Amino acid sequence: MQQPICKDQLILRQPGRPATLADAPLAQNLMDTLIFNQDRCVGMAANMIGQPVNIIAVKTGPLQLLMLNPIITKQSQPYQTTEGCLSLLGERPTKRFEQITVQYQDLTGQTQTLPATGFLAQIIQHEVDHCHGIII
Ligand SMILES: [Zn+2]
Repeated sequence: MQQPICKDQLILRQPGRPATLADAPLAQNLMDTLIFNQDRCVGMAANMIGQPVNIIAVKTGPLQLLMLNPIITKQSQPYQTTEGCLSLLGERPTKRFEQITVQYQDLTGQTQTLPATGFLAQIIQHEVDHCHGIII
């Protein structure tokens, strides 16, 4: 079910707690909210709907990913860019990496390892930062 977007910086700056499979309904709400906002948003973290839990959702083109406890295990080729965020006003400068590898659990509890580059890598880095209470 689609949820309101949290803009409260106190909540957004809280590091998330580890996600478990019991958080599957929250993960589904997160994806529903992302799809509802897909004309202006390509990724969301659970604290953006007011729940500081380490879950992120990504939707770009036909690709949809839900990740529990995502961790970036490799990163290379840093660059400077600017990003916006549904929880914040305007665009802000930030440093990202062109190539990353992310490890996470899927909704069956399996650990997955995903290499990502370019825009997909950028989205994942932004959302993983949210899980750490880091906002751009
Ligand atoms: Zn954001």
